[in-house]
Amino acid sequence: MGKLLIVGTVAFDAIETPFGKTDKILGGAATYIGLSASQFGIQSGIISVVGGDFPEDYLNMLNSKNIDTTGIEIKSQGKTFFWSGKYHNDLNTRDTLITDLNVLADFNPVVPENFVDCDFLMLGNLHPSVQMSVIKQIPKRPKLVVLDTMNFWMDNTLVELKEVIKKIDVITINDEEARQLSGEYSLVKAAEKIHKMGPKYVVIKKGEHGALLFHDGNVFFAPALPLEEVFDPTGAGDTFAGGFIGYLASTYDISFENMKRAIIFGSNLASFCVEKFGTERMENLSQREIQNRLKQFKELTQFEIELN
Ligand code: AMP
Repeated sequence: MGKLLIVGTVAFDAIETPFGKTDKILGGAATYIGLSASQFGIQSGIISVVGGDFPEDYLNMLNSKNIDTTGIEIKSQGKTFFWSGKYHNDLNTRDTLITDLNVLADFNPVVPENFVDCDFLMLGNLHPSVQMSVIKQIPKRPKLVVLDTMNFWMDNTLVELKEVIKKIDVITINDEEARQLSGEYSLVKAAEKIHKMGPKYVVIKKGEHGALLFHDGNVFFAPALPLEEVFDPTGAGDTFAGGFIGYLASTYDISFENMKRAIIFGSNLASFCVEKFGTERMENLSQREIQNRLKQFKELTQFEIELN
């Protein structure tokens, strides 16, 4: 079983969907990744920064899931990163209303001593220089480095982003971001171009339409489970990434065949995340529910066909 280190935001989010609205609730990419990966019973830790306004209860909740939070710096004089977004009726698109970097503006990540030897590294969506700084603090290259990013960093820090992309094994991005990064409309061509930038594996997330895994001329596709109720898509991408790397860390196997299973585990966990606002569903999820839904996934994708 591998040790997983996660870097990313631990945040306050205020979310509006067609079904309701929240005040500031717990959010952040690293939070969702950690909660998702914790389902695999692995040793994991988060590197992030929060302000003095961040409730201790949230840290206790993460600790109760066996997530090490010693790498979450608390700047008592500062305020926690705040993001606010509003979803359109299709729930696939959203407008960012507010991004207050606050303590994140001058974040200097420090890898805790007991995670310097991590086997799996998840670079959550953050400034690429922060992602790079974490890579540089780990003397022995981890078995697998996965990076998630978004259009915000492509628009503002493309040079730094391309530098860090050179150093990773797997990139997870959504379809529009893959198009933006590569300049190609076809996702197959986009994946090819992104491969050439560094990562051997390219995962393209397509929201409610599933996810694609590209590697060395091969492609694997996993659908998203058709759900009766989608309440709030926030964090689905991070939950997917957390499930993906969490499964790989728990099996200590980074073969393409195992990555296909990891994609299914990621999609499965993401399907829970969207059922309630914020992290609520991920905080209260049983192994039994996960297993039952995996069965549904299997049924959804299995078919018999005669080949001549
Ligand atoms: P997702 O829905 O998977 O894209 O992730 C949503 C989470 O990303 C929210 O909980 C936010 O706190 C966090 N977030 C939003 N904007 C940014 C940003 N520019 N950098 C890092 N994290 C962000």
